Amino acid sequence: MAAALPAAGVFAQDSTLKTRAIADIQAHYNDYKTIALQIWDYAEVGYKEVKSSTLLQKTLTDNGFSVKTGVADIPTAFVASYGSGSPVIGILAEFDALPGLSQQAVAEKMPFEGRVAGHGCGHHLFGTASVAAGIELKKLIAEKKLSGTIRVYGCPAEEGGSGKVYMVRAGLFNDVDVVIHWHPGDGNAVTLTSALANKSAKFRFHGLSAHAAMAPDKGRSALDGVEAMDYMVNMMREHIPQETRIHYVITNGGKAPNVVPDYAEVYYYVRHPKKDEVVRIFDWVVKAAEGAALGTQTHVDYEVIGGTHDLLLNRTLAEAMQQNLLRVGGVRYTAAETEFAQKIQASFTYKAEAIASVAGVKPLKEVNDAGGGSTDVGDVSYAVPTVGLEAATWVAGTPAHSWQATACGGTEIGTKGMMVAAKTMVLTAMDCFLNPGLVAKAKEEFRKDKGDYQYKALLGDRKPALNYRD
Ligand SMILES: [Zn+2]
Repeated sequence: MAAALPAAGVFAQDSTLKTRAIADIQAHYNDYKTIALQIWDYAEVGYKEVKSSTLLQKTLTDNGFSVKTGVADIPTAFVASYGSGSPVIGILAEFDALPGLSQQAVAEKMPFEGRVAGHGCGHHLFGTASVAAGIELKKLIAEKKLSGTIRVYGCPAEEGGSGKVYMVRAGLFNDVDVVIHWHPGDGNAVTLTSALANKSAKFRFHGLSAHAAMAPDKGRSALDGVEAMDYMVNMMREHIPQETRIHYVITNGGKAPNVVPDYAEVYYYVRHPKKDEVVRIFDWVVKAAEGAALGTQTHVDYEVIGGTHDLLLNRTLAEAMQQNLLRVGGVRYTAAETEFAQKIQASFTYKAEAIASVAGVKPLKEVNDAGGGSTDVGDVSYAVPTVGLEAATWVAGTPAHSWQATACGGTEIGTKGMMVAAKTMVLTAMDCFLNPGLVAKAKEEFRKDKGDYQYKALLGDRKPALNYRD
């Protein structure tokens, strides 16, 4: 461990400043808790996060940031800036909720009456912690303890909407030196696992309706088109690399069995650790759709909904962040929180890590599979050296996108974990502001890993899919 510490001089020089920053941000814990729980309560889905985005913007404006809203043709996206000149350090903030995950802040499955969405991925904490970190760094810049620019990027619709891709495509990250982000989780760890590149689309089949018993010969079933496509894609699975993930849901399969459906829609995701493979396999899925339309005498068209790159890791920044995370430490539960955690763990069908494991920090370890998920942070990571962490906002063993995750996010288990992330991001940004050598080394690693790849958004030149949740 000792070898990975920054040079003694640097550490000594910023150590008191870091201690002060940690204490200062913690002094505002109640304010940030209130904001996070408010956004948890709003539970707005992708591109509809009007109230959530407004609250975060207002918090930043009230604290001296200048905020540009509606960037990249997305009404709920924003860039908040403070300071001038270099380095420019960006912090990502998310705030979208997930449909189908309405859940009260209790340790048993209990949706809110009449609420359709919930923060099952903790993005209310994500956005709030990032804003908190931005404000703390702004104070240090204002006090002339740091020089440069801090930017908070308000990034809508991470869940399937690829919000950041449009922001990257619009060039909003072109002049940024380092980007810092985090994600809620069930442990504390700096991210050294990539993510799956992903391309998604809605395939729409058009047929002819007719009475399904009296005139079936006069009809052509759009649902047949969907089913034939799904059948072909399922056969493809044997002949594509096994790290591939393909999933679909039939979002419209007709309305009544006695009417031959003239319209049907299926929504597909294609994922693989390598973006080029995603493009190749996605094009094959398109062929299956065309073949299905041909064989069922229907027509098909499709709309690409999302597309994200894999995640380019930056070991230089990850090592610096690890030192900061160790310094901040994990989360400790009160007796009541431990009891809540026990109830949550009792709902699992598997054995989870010990409840107290969230007090620790996992060792820095590069994992050579791409994990299971995809993130639009991937596209940012191809524009700027990027580093992130996971902080324990959920009881150990809690999967993302679950009622348990939504429940934890509505309690102090969530908001305490969020502070681990906020503090670690502040300290890591401080390293970047205070140590130009670190930024230079991170950029060098970034250039080497990116090679001569010219960024091209997997979702092409489509406009933001602002209605993808309709
Ligand atoms: Zn998420």
